[in-house]
Amino acid sequence: MKIGCPKEIKPQEFRVGMTPNAAQEAVARGHEVLIETDAGMGSGFDNDAYMAAGARIVDTAAEVFATADMIVKVKEPQAVERKMLREGQLLFTYLHLAPDPDQTHDLLSSGCTAIAYETVTDAAGGLPLLAPMSEVAGRLAPQVGSWTLQKANGGRGVLMGGVPGVGPAKVVVIGGGVVGTHAAKIAAGMGADVTVLDRSLPRLRYLDDVFGNTFNNQYSTAGATAELIQTADMVIGAVLIPGAAAPKLVTRAQLSTMKPGAVLVDVAIDQGGCFETSKATTHADPIYEVDGIMHYCVANMPGAVARTSTIALGNATMPFLLSLADKGWKQACQDDPHLLAGLNVHAGQLTYYAVGKALGIDV
Ligand code: NAD
Repeated sequence: MKIGCPKEIKPQEFRVGMTPNAAQEAVARGHEVLIETDAGMGSGFDNDAYMAAGARIVDTAAEVFATADMIVKVKEPQAVERKMLREGQLLFTYLHLAPDPDQTHDLLSSGCTAIAYETVTDAAGGLPLLAPMSEVAGRLAPQVGSWTLQKANGGRGVLMGGVPGVGPAKVVVIGGGVVGTHAAKIAAGMGADVTVLDRSLPRLRYLDDVFGNTFNNQYSTAGATAELIQTADMVIGAVLIPGAAAPKLVTRAQLSTMKPGAVLVDVAIDQGGCFETSKATTHADPIYEVDGIMHYCVANMPGAVARTSTIALGNATMPFLLSLADKGWKQACQDDPHLLAGLNVHAGQLTYYAVGKALGIDV
């Protein structure tokens, strides 16, 4: 199969759909890999690395789209890219169609077959192509939060691990799923005093079994949250209610009960945010202050560490990508119901129920 990987064109997107290692594996199995020139530069992979892997570098996205049987990307195709998709072509990338009727209509009218990373499932009931980005965002949260805590950035001027004779920062993580667990691990590793709140008792039992005394955990109620944020230096929002907007768990009125200069890191901002005062920010201007409390609310946190994110995403997508290339999408999806769960669009037909329901389109 001819596999094509164009350069990402969404603003501030530095990731790339295929690493040189993924290209090498595909080439070794007899596939042809076309990479748009400089597609990997934002992640630190130059053209030579792809050529050494056996891929062919082409000058333009138009050439990639015109030649390839399968297009592998990171972000949803932008309008100009959608115009280049054609009937029978396979698209493998993040799509997030439910809130995006324009993209959905363009994909339907292109006649392509589109498999969305975010709806591919695994045997444990998880979302294996979303998990790596949650791991990245979770581990990044205490890192950006501790930077925001520094005095020059408007924070309280508290060091995460303290020093001998001075206690550590107090960190509260709301939501103990993938993001929350990785955030808690890193914050605890930095020496902070960490408490994780979750509403799922099985999840709290898991955290207790696996992490023991590395960090505390507590059942999430409005009362527990209200009490803990009063002494917190940093609060990390990491909740998710699948298919719904994030619940608002800290109100504006509660900010006045917190220590001046404390930091809120709202990782759940991509679902609307779990603090009432959250509004999405960008890497170029990531923080702002409300009532003396610093907020960090970047909606695409993994973009800050594009190289790590590209490699982590590539590790997760590669087995599916190779299966699609080796067998063709039909056989690959027949053999693997979890990959089939990723099928959102085929030959002008929407094939994913939740997207159809959200957009009022028959499935
Ligand atoms: P997850 O499903 O693994 O975990 C969510 C957890 O929240 C679950 O354990 C759930 O029990 C818990 N929860 C739900 N309601 C709660 C409540 N009221 N109080 C406490 N806990 C509650 O999800 P995840 O992968 O960890 O993702 C968390 C959020 O981070 C999502 O909104 C996701 O979209 C977002 N995210 C953002 C970025 C970014 O760049 N900003 C990147 C990756 C993920």
